[in-house]
Amino acid sequence: MSDKKPFEIARETLKQLTARKLAPTPLNYQSIYNEIAGIPQVPHFPMDNLREIVRALPAKTPGQQKQRGLLEYAIDRMNWEGVKAALVSYGSFVPVGSADAQPSGNAPLTSTVASETTMVVPALTAEFMAQIARLIEYVLPALGTDDERFKEQTTTMLKALRDPTVDVATQKLMLANYSHRLSFVAEDQAEIHNSLLKLLHLVFENIADLSPEEQWLKGQMEALMTASAPPLSLRRLDDVEWRLKDVIFKQKEAKERTVAAQNEMRDMLASFIERLSDMTQSTGIYHDKLEESARLIEQAKSMAEIAPVLKDVVGTTSRMASESLATRDELSAMREQATRTEAELVKLHKELDRVSSEARHDSLTGTLNRKGLDEALERELSTVRRKETPLSMALLDIDNFKKLNDSLGHSMGDNALNHLATVARDCMRPQDTLARFGGEEFVVLLPDTPLDKGIEAMTRLQRELTKRFFLAGAEKILITFSAGVAQLNDGETGMEAIRRADQAMYLAKRAGKNRVLGA
Ligand code: GH3
Ligand code: MG
Ligand code: MG
Repeated sequence: MSDKKPFEIARETLKQLTARKLAPTPLNYQSIYNEIAGIPQVPHFPMDNLREIVRALPAKTPGQQKQRGLLEYAIDRMNWEGVKAALVSYGSFVPVGSADAQPSGNAPLTSTVASETTMVVPALTAEFMAQIARLIEYVLPALGTDDERFKEQTTTMLKALRDPTVDVATQKLMLANYSHRLSFVAEDQAEIHNSLLKLLHLVFENIADLSPEEQWLKGQMEALMTASAPPLSLRRLDDVEWRLKDVIFKQKEAKERTVAAQNEMRDMLASFIERLSDMTQSTGIYHDKLEESARLIEQAKSMAEIAPVLKDVVGTTSRMASESLATRDELSAMREQATRTEAELVKLHKELDRVSSEARHDSLTGTLNRKGLDEALERELSTVRRKETPLSMALLDIDNFKKLNDSLGHSMGDNALNHLATVARDCMRPQDTLARFGGEEFVVLLPDTPLDKGIEAMTRLQRELTKRFFLAGAEKILITFSAGVAQLNDGETGMEAIRRADQAMYLAKRAGKNRVLGA
C-alpha cells in the first residue's frame, strides 16, 4: 500500500492518464489510481463482452426491446444488479419453443411455428388487452364515481392496457391488483343498492303510518312497495316515480281542502263567539268562559280538538238560553253546519280512497292506466277466444322525452304526453284501446287486427304526428316515438305479447328511433 496522501495519488493519477494518453473514463482512472495507491485491481467489468451479448439478443417484441434497452443502460453504468434484472426479465419475453430460446439447427417445423408465434402473439395480445380496456369502460358506470382512488387506478389500468411499451407480465400483474380492488367496489355498489332500496321501503312504510286516517294513502303505499321490490328494472322504477308523484299530488290536494274547511269553521265560530261575548259583557259570568273557548278554538289544530270546545260553548249557551233564546238557536244552526262540514270531509276522504283504489284512468292523459289496461286485455282476450280473431298490441315509447322535459320543463312534458294521447285517440278506431303503460310509454290494443295491419296503424299515427305538431308556446315541436307491434299468439297471455312488443320497441330504439317494428 502506498504512503502517499489521497490528493497526491489523485494528482499523480491524472498526470499518468495524460502521459499514457488514456481516455479519462472512470474505469481508466480507477485502474491507475489503484496502481499508484497499491490497491489490488478489482476484476474488470466486462463491458465490451456484455455489449456484444446485447447485440446478439433479438428485439422483436416491444417487451424484448424494452428489456434490451434496460440491459444496455445497466451495462453503461457498470451496474451488475441492473444487468441481472434486465436479463431475467428478458427471459420472460422469449416465447416457449421459440428459436430465440434454443440453439440454432432445430427442425424446420419448430422454427416455422416459432416465427408464427412471435409474429401473431403480440398483435393478438394487444387486441385482447384493448378488449379488456373496453370491457372495463363499459362496466365503469355501474361502479359509481365516489371512490377517487379507484378512479385513479382505473385510469392507470386503462393506460397500461393500451400502451404497447408496457409488457404483458406487468399488465397481468396490474390486472390482478385491479380486479381485486374492483371486487370490493362492486360489492360496495351492490350493498349501496340494497340499502337504498331498504331505505325507500322504510320511507313508504312510514308515510302510511304517519297518516293512519288516510286509508287511500295506505293503498297507494302498498302498491309502491310492490312496484319497488326486486327484481328492479328501469321501467318499474319509472312506474314508482310516476305513482309517487300521483300520491304527493293527491295528498297535497286533500290536505289543502281539509285545512281550508277547518279555517272556515274556525273563523265562523270565532266571529260568533265574539258577538256572543259582546252581548253578554254585562252579565259577566259567561264572559270568561267564552273567552277561554275562543282561545282554545284559536289554538285547535284539528276538527277533533274543536269538537269538545264546541260542546262547551253549546253548554254555556244553553245556560244563557233564558237570556238569549235567539242566540242559542243561531249557535245550534252553526253546530249543525259544523257537523255537515265534518261529514263532507269524511265523504271527501272516502271518495279519495275509492278513487285511489278503483281508478282505471290515468289522471294526466285520461287514457286507461295499468289497472284499466289489465281489464281491457282481459275483455279482448275473451273475445279472441270466442271469435278466434287476431289481436295485435303495440307498445310505443316517446323518443328523447327526457330531453324535451329538460329543455321545456316538466309541465310542458306533461302537455306533450296529453298531445300524443289526443292525436292517438283521434287516429284510432272506436274499438281500439289506448292505455298509459308507464311514464312516456303507451299501449294500444288493436282488436281484429293482424300484425301487418297493426304496424300500418302505428305508422299512420307517426305520420299524423308529423302533421299535428305539439305547440310549446309559439314553438312547434315534432314528437316522435318508437314502437313495437306484436300479434297475440295461441296460448300466450296479454302481458307476454306486450313484452314481445316491448322487445321490438327496444330494437326500434337501437335501430335509430322514430320507427315501428313487428315482433
Ligand atoms: P328514449 O328515446 O331512449 O326513449 O329516451 P327518453 O329520454 O325518452 O327515455 P327515458 O326512458 O330515459 O326517459 C323518460 C323520461 O320521461 C324520464 C321521466 O322523467 C319522464 N317522465 C316519466 N313520466 C313523466 C310524466 O308523467 N311527465 C313528464 N313530464 N315526464 C315524465
Ligand atoms: Mg321510456
Ligand atoms: Mg322514451
